[in-house]
Amino acid sequence: MEVKLRIAHLYPDLLNIYADRGNIIALRRRCQWRGIGVVLDGFTLGEEPAWMDYDFFYLSGGQDREQNLVCGDLQQKGAGLEEAVESGAVLLSICGGYQLLGEYYRAADGGTMEGVGLFQAHTIAGRDRCIGNVVIETTVTGSPLKLAGFENHAGRTWLDEGQEPLGRVINGHGNNDQDGGEGIVYRNAIGTYLHGPLLPKNTAFTDHLLRLALEHRYGEGVELAPLDDSLEEAARQAALRLGG
Ligand code: GLN
Repeated sequence: MEVKLRIAHLYPDLLNIYADRGNIIALRRRCQWRGIGVVLDGFTLGEEPAWMDYDFFYLSGGQDREQNLVCGDLQQKGAGLEEAVESGAVLLSICGGYQLLGEYYRAADGGTMEGVGLFQAHTIAGRDRCIGNVVIETTVTGSPLKLAGFENHAGRTWLDEGQEPLGRVINGHGNNDQDGGEGIVYRNAIGTYLHGPLLPKNTAFTDHLLRLALEHRYGEGVELAPLDDSLEEAARQAALRLGG
């Protein structure tokens, strides 16, 4: 049986900022190096994936303008995406994508974009932007792990009571520059402000998501062959020293 990772990239033409496409390249290469096949399909406005055909959904960041363009269409896709997440599929959403999966995003111009409500959180734009390198500590992989990234957002995201952030901010602003939380986790769905791109920089996290996605299709106990990550690890350590 040929093992394959099936990725649905949502709005690849509209949501791609700070080289977020690098996350897809990292997933692809780490599969190829292990002899794992990759199906990668993009879905933009008006295109509906067969949700259960995919194990990894990716929604990246964008400016308010692009967020406005995808917002209504994403509402249409919301039920399918939720069904996939409830079944255990992996969803990685970055910055603008993360905001639109919450309850709403009130942008800097005062307009409100309705969210999908997959994440119990809402976002309100502040007067200034949260910009710079970020380091967070997460335990989502089962043990404490520092992630390095870069953030640039006006939105401040507030998680509803009882919701779990992806990690705690060590350096940078995170969700709202106040409560020390960064991102959100719901089942295998993750929202985060970390561009970076995140996945090439943080390979243990990448492999964790990869394993979860493969287990969604093939059941528990997926073993990923080890890779020589010495260069990636040296880059991550350097980034951590520089604050992300
Ligand atoms: N437009 C959103 C904000 O400024 C998201 C930006 C982004 O995705 N980098 O908060």
